[in-house]
Amino acid sequence: MKRSIYGTILLLILSVNCTAQESNTIQVAVKPEVVNERLPLVEDRPIKNVIFIIGDGTGLVQLTSGQYKLVGAEGLLHLQTMPVTGIVKTYSSNGLITDSAAGATAYSCGVKTDNGKIAQLPDERECKTILELAEEKGLSTGIVSTSGVTHATPASYAAHVRARGMEEEIAVDYLEADMEVILGGGWEFFIPSGEEGSEREDNRNLINEFEEKGYEYVDSKMALESSESDKLLGLFSPGGMPSEDRTPTLAEMSSKAIEVLSQNEDGFFLMIEGSQIDWGGHGNDTEYVLREVKDFDAAIKRVLDFAVEDGETLVVLTADHETGGMAINSHYDRRDEVEIAWTTTGHTGVPVPLMAYGPHAIKFTGWQENTEVGIKVAELFGVGTLPQIIEE
Ligand SMILES: [Zn+2]
Repeated sequence: MKRSIYGTILLLILSVNCTAQESNTIQVAVKPEVVNERLPLVEDRPIKNVIFIIGDGTGLVQLTSGQYKLVGAEGLLHLQTMPVTGIVKTYSSNGLITDSAAGATAYSCGVKTDNGKIAQLPDERECKTILELAEEKGLSTGIVSTSGVTHATPASYAAHVRARGMEEEIAVDYLEADMEVILGGGWEFFIPSGEEGSEREDNRNLINEFEEKGYEYVDSKMALESSESDKLLGLFSPGGMPSEDRTPTLAEMSSKAIEVLSQNEDGFFLMIEGSQIDWGGHGNDTEYVLREVKDFDAAIKRVLDFAVEDGETLVVLTADHETGGMAINSHYDRRDEVEIAWTTTGHTGVPVPLMAYGPHAIKFTGWQENTEVGIKVAELFGVGTLPQIIEE
């Protein structure tokens, strides 16, 4: 009796192991249905709009795995059609391995800071972000993410706190930031304590406060798409948005953000984050990563369609760091399958890829510090010189 129980347990362990192995195998697509062509370099002219895209935890292997799965070995994802590529060094001021807060602050402020700090230096002085500079110049600004909107990456553009976990304060900072568009998950930090699902400790109803400031609040795809407001707060889930059957998708949120922001004749700054490629990496969950890269690349298509048509928009896509130490190994010498391996459930220090399209995109070629990327974008955009430290 005992032996058969052990036998069953052993069998169960073996079968669980087997499934895990299978889910780490990627079926390589044979031929893409549509072949994506590389985009040309465009003439350098003043930049009117900047769309800065961050794939959280998105290294070369995350992108290449998505490419294998979606368009095969010979195909190109939309993000791979951008004509300029570079490599970005991601270390932070207190670690060779960065977190998302220090990683995004390097891009938003042009400074290296300690892990966990949101648009602040290690000594807690605040640094002005490119989004804030754009807002001061009268441009429209926005953030879009598939995490809660108060998560580290979007927060680093429009909030200043000493620890990324201070998401209640981050939501309050957004009230002051005066952005035109905030879209993603995370209403748990916007509703008062005591209401179901609230993660706030005070009684502030930030959704009401945003409405009083002229924002339209939407919480569904339908409301998002039918909104005609020029100030939009859209929160579609309590925390991070669901990965499966995500509604709205990152592409749908990005399209709406561009539609609203591009009404400003003087231009706009938009930060879009594919937040959960990182979460798939932390879970060493290959399927999760592939699903997220698909959602991400569909959003990039919308962005590039706009930028090609517009001609005055600089698009820069990069990552804050790689997550998981994801690798592509051979799978029994088969050409139609690859095996994914992972080295960690944390972040790694491997440099990340950068892609750029639009006027002056060529300036982003070569190896560069993450801070240099932020500094260059601000300079080319003409919104000011980074870094700008606020002395109190
Ligand atoms: Zn992470």
